[in-house]
Amino acid sequence: MVRIRILAVGIVCVAASASAYELGRHDRETGVQRTIAPSLYAADANTYMGFEAGTILPEQAPVGIVELRDVYYPGTEDLAPDEMRVIACGTGMPNARPKQAAACFLVELGNGDKFIFDIGLGSAERISAMKIPYDYLDKVFIGHLHADHMGDLDALWVGGVIANRQRPLRVWGPSGTEDRLGIRHAVDHMKEMYAWDYASRLGNIGLAGLVIEVNEFDYRGVNQVIYEENGVTITSIPAIHALDGPVSFILKWNDLKFAFSSDTYPNSWWIEYVQNADLVIHECFATPEMLVEKQNFPVRDALNVGTQVHTSPAQFGKVMSATQPRMAVGYHVFNDFDTQPLILADIRSTYSGPVALATDYMVFNVTKEEIRVRMAAIDEDIWPPPPTTAKLPGNPADRVGFSPFIAGGREVYQDIIDDLYSRVNERYGTDVPVPGARGGN
Ligand SMILES: [Zn+2]
Ligand SMILES: [Zn+2]
Repeated sequence: MVRIRILAVGIVCVAASASAYELGRHDRETGVQRTIAPSLYAADANTYMGFEAGTILPEQAPVGIVELRDVYYPGTEDLAPDEMRVIACGTGMPNARPKQAAACFLVELGNGDKFIFDIGLGSAERISAMKIPYDYLDKVFIGHLHADHMGDLDALWVGGVIANRQRPLRVWGPSGTEDRLGIRHAVDHMKEMYAWDYASRLGNIGLAGLVIEVNEFDYRGVNQVIYEENGVTITSIPAIHALDGPVSFILKWNDLKFAFSSDTYPNSWWIEYVQNADLVIHECFATPEMLVEKQNFPVRDALNVGTQVHTSPAQFGKVMSATQPRMAVGYHVFNDFDTQPLILADIRSTYSGPVALATDYMVFNVTKEEIRVRMAAIDEDIWPPPPTTAKLPGNPADRVGFSPFIAGGREVYQDIIDDLYSRVNERYGTDVPVPGARGGN
C-alpha cells in the first residue's frame, strides 16, 4: 500500500516538472486516470496508511535505500518478458537545441528486440545514454527523409562501430516518387559522403559494423508488412507530409500495439489502422502562433506549416479521439514552461483521453495492465558499453596509410612511444611491438 502511494507522489512531481504527463496511471480496461485508490487512505481516518501517528514508516529509515524512486536509471531494470519500454530519444523540431534532439524513439521489447524509430539530429547522444550495447541497436526504421528524422544515422553508423557494434546496421525506409528520393539513395550517398572516414578506419578497427543493410519498401503500401521476425510484426502506412514518400509505422508484439507517425497530416490510413493501440507517438506540432512569435515565421507560412504540413495540437486531439489509444503521446514541439499549457489547452479542446506531451528522456513502460510514464535520469559521463561478442583488433595490413610526404612530417618522440608500449604491454601482459619510426604504416 505504501509502495503505491510513493509512486503516485512521484508521478505528480514528474508532471510538475518539464514533462507533461497529465494523468496518473491507467488501467487497461478503461484507459482512465487512476492515481491512488481511495480505500488505501480510508481504512481508518485516524491513522496514516494504517500506521499510528509518529511511527517511522518502513521505507523511510534514515540509513535505508529509497526503494521506489519514480525515475528510470538506464541499465538498472529488467524488462519483463511481456513488457514494452519506449524511450523518447528525440522529441524536438528541426532547430537544434540542447534540451530536445530531433525525432527519435527507442522501443525495447521483453523478448530482447530493440527498434529505433527515426533517428533525427542530436538523437544519437540520447541513445548512448541508455547504456545499451550497440550490437542490440541494429534496427532503424525511418519514416521520412527529413534531416530531423534521419540526420543522426551517420552518428549511429560510424559512432556505433567505434562504440563496439560488430554487426551490420539494418535500416528500413520508404521509396520515393523517383529513385533518388528513396532511402536506398540516401544511405548509398551517406556512405559516399563518408568515403574518407571509411578509408581512414580500414585496418584500425573491425569493419563488420560498417556494413549497412538497406530495406527500401513502397511508400504507398497500406498496412504492408515490412518486418516480421521473432514474433514482432511492423507494418507501414502512407503518411501525408511535405512530399510523397513519408510513412508511419505500426508495431505489434505480444498482443501490444505501438504506432509511430513520424511526420504526418491527419490521414485516413492512421484512423483506420491505428485504432485502439496501446501506445501511440504522433506528431503534435507547434501552434501557428508559436511559429509566428517564437520562430519568426510570416503568418501565411505559420498557418501552412502549422496546419497543412504538420498536425497542430487541436488536430492531434481529433486524431486521438477518433482512434482511442490507451496512451496518446504528442511530440515534435519545443516542450517548455510557456508552450506546454498552450499545446495542452488546444489538445483538450478536441480530446479528453490519456495524453503525454513528450520531452527527451521520457520513458513509457507498457504492459497489458498499465502504462507507467517516468523520466530517465542519465549519466552525462557515459562511455560505450562493452560489445556482446568477443572483439578482435583491426588488421594492420588493411591500412591505407600515409603518403611519404605526410609521413615524412612526423616528429617522432621515440622515447615516449617506447615508454608507452612498454607500460601498456606490461599492464595487459601483451607483446605489441613498437612500430617503426614512421608509425608502422
Ligand atoms: Zn518532416
Ligand atoms: Zn519532422
